[in-house]
Amino acid sequence: MVEERFDAIVVGAGPAGNAAAYTMAKEGLKVLQLERGEYPGSKNVQGAILYADALEKLIANFREDAPLERHVIEQRLWMLDDRSYTGMHYRSDDFNEEKPNRYTIIRAQFDKWFSQKVREAGATVICETTVKDLIRNTKGRVIGVQTDREEGTVMADVVVLAEGVNGLVGQRAGLREELKPDTVALAVKEMHFLPSDVIEARFNLKGDEGVVIEAMGTVTSGMTGTAFLYTNQESISVGIGCLVCDFKESGEAPYALLEKFKAHPAIRPLLEGSEVKEYAAHLIPEGGYDAIPELYGDGWVIVGDAGQFVNAAHREGSNLAMTTGRIAGETIVRLKRTRQDFTAAELSLYAKRLEESFVLKDLKKYRRLPGFLHGNKERLFGLYPQLLSKAAQTWLRVDGTDKRAKEKEIWAAFRQSRGLKGLLGDAYRLARAWR
Ligand SMILES: Cc1cc2nc3c(=O)[nH]c(=O)nc-3n(C[C@H](O)[C@H](O)[C@H](O)COP(=O)(O)OP(=O)(O)OC[C@H]3O[C@@H](n4cnc5c(N)ncnc54)[C@H](O)[C@@H]3O)c2cc1C
Repeated sequence: MVEERFDAIVVGAGPAGNAAAYTMAKEGLKVLQLERGEYPGSKNVQGAILYADALEKLIANFREDAPLERHVIEQRLWMLDDRSYTGMHYRSDDFNEEKPNRYTIIRAQFDKWFSQKVREAGATVICETTVKDLIRNTKGRVIGVQTDREEGTVMADVVVLAEGVNGLVGQRAGLREELKPDTVALAVKEMHFLPSDVIEARFNLKGDEGVVIEAMGTVTSGMTGTAFLYTNQESISVGIGCLVCDFKESGEAPYALLEKFKAHPAIRPLLEGSEVKEYAAHLIPEGGYDAIPELYGDGWVIVGDAGQFVNAAHREGSNLAMTTGRIAGETIVRLKRTRQDFTAAELSLYAKRLEESFVLKDLKKYRRLPGFLHGNKERLFGLYPQLLSKAAQTWLRVDGTDKRAKEKEIWAAFRQSRGLKGLLGDAYRLARAWR
């Protein structure tokens, strides 16, 4: 394999690994990045929204050549029952700014582009190579990695684990626990191809404008999860995901849920006539703040999904991955230039900087949310969407019933289903989880 010694080895070439490798290589560190896939992006699945801010902090002019699909000008949040949706939409021409804030992307293309930037910055990127284990010295400090290649041992001052949600290397090395089924979601996604003018007409878009739909409700059959639909230039990404423990308990098949979502009266017309070309399944870490493992130790740090850095409340993952990768990279650059020491005590600076960033502030803010959603799933993903839909229909139908009587009917439906104490309790728990 590669015989020389490196300043840093990065395991994985997703957004987290690319951000770390790019940051360090750009500052002149000798970086080796190892990716098990045929090419960066070949193993990756994402909906996918790219949050510009995190990438801009790495590559300020990324808009010049990155493979961006559409910039998002409209967000729809839908609560579904089986026949209807109650929605909140936000659309603004302000999002047609010179430097848009969010884009849809196709990960296979985006990761390839990002990896090219990593190579241009000077890192050595080797694909089709799986890291099997970490190598430690007699004092237990990580000093390199063992790969599946012949003579596949490589040494470095520090190893950045950016291996994604499964994190088998970290698990094998005892740095993190095995994933728990109640902290990880299984998502399935399809790409539906349609001509761009059809997409624009269906979603009321012009040029590169795009729309994002996030949905929850009875479509997940009482399981904790959400569905999504994102517009690309000539395709629509559509997917759904639920906690693995809920799939296990219910026996529901993920693809059956996706079929149910696609057949929903609000979704079916948006996909009509499309050609499905890709199908993929992937895990998403959803345990939040309390599921974050140890983030650093002697000679190693963990970044991105491997560290459970996903803000499920806002469907943000790639930006947390890039930010944690960048901060880990910056920490290593600083230590290389100052202390020449990569012990846990020195690398703790990485965790300290994360505490100061939006990453840990946000995850801390929502630390009660995963438990709240899972603990109240029957109501949140069953009862309430149905009650809301019924309330909207009662309210909107003009049928000779006076408005006060309608209000009474709506209120009675809520009280009969949940009782006043139950309703107040749910509202309190939601406010507490969101705080
Ligand atoms: C269906 C779906 C939709 C999503 N939608 C969004 C969205 O719209 N917006 C958003 O911001 N986030 C979204 N996410 C989350 C986002 O995809 C992740 O947070 C992000 O990809 C994490 O980046 P990462 O680099 O940590 O991990 P990954 O992207 O998973 O990259 C890890 C890389 O490491 C490689 N690897 C693993 N093990 C080894 C090994 N032993 N040796 C060598 N290489 C290895 C893998 O092949 C992979 O390339 C979505 C996720 C899913 C599944």
